[in-house]
Amino acid sequence: MSKMGDWLKIDLHVHTTKSSDGLSTINEVIRVARNKGLNGLAITDHDVPFTEHIDNFLIIPGVEISTNYGHLIGLGLTVAPKKGINIWEAIDFIREHDGIIVIPHPFDRFRSGINDIAWKIPAHAVEVINAGTILNSANKKAEFLANKRNLGKVAGSDAHMAKLVGFAYTLIKADPDVDSILKAIANKRTKPCGKTYGVLPKVEAFIKRQIRKIR
Ligand SMILES: [Zn+2]
Ligand SMILES: [Zn+2]
Repeated sequence: MSKMGDWLKIDLHVHTTKSSDGLSTINEVIRVARNKGLNGLAITDHDVPFTEHIDNFLIIPGVEISTNYGHLIGLGLTVAPKKGINIWEAIDFIREHDGIIVIPHPFDRFRSGINDIAWKIPAHAVEVINAGTILNSANKKAEFLANKRNLGKVAGSDAHMAKLVGFAYTLIKADPDVDSILKAIANKRTKPCGKTYGVLPKVEAFIKRQIRKIR
């Protein structure tokens, strides 16, 4: 392998049943990732860290933190701060735990984007393709932000159902281990790829959640 590794294909934004709105288990999510030829996944559940031991697939632990402004992802975190934390405290928290700060879907109001404060906060990368975003303009504006601020660009499915894993993913030039991947993201050795999946899966997820409530 070269000094900086190969281009790994990794979905950097995936939810499991540890998120209250997640519908698929970690094993279901891994199965789809493998079938779609991904090399790894970042598990970014809402306000809970990923602490399971998985030895048959590359998992980057992370947390999608619900700050007072909206969502912020800390990659590499194995602990989570309190839900509703002030965004500046969330940034300190991620730094103290040697995490990577990613701004997911900054301008998507339907997904709790942090919006204009995204221009001010320190971050390593911006999610410029969120596969669940309905308005393509929100992803376009995220890319504009990353370009203007010269931040790294990443992509993720934001899948809450296994079959949506891999719709968007990031090519990362790194060795296949968590430290190398986090370092590569911090150094902007990333290429965002993929597409949005549209409205239909949202309807399906909504129905599945209703059924789960009835049961
Ligand atoms: Zn989010
Ligand atoms: Zn998410």
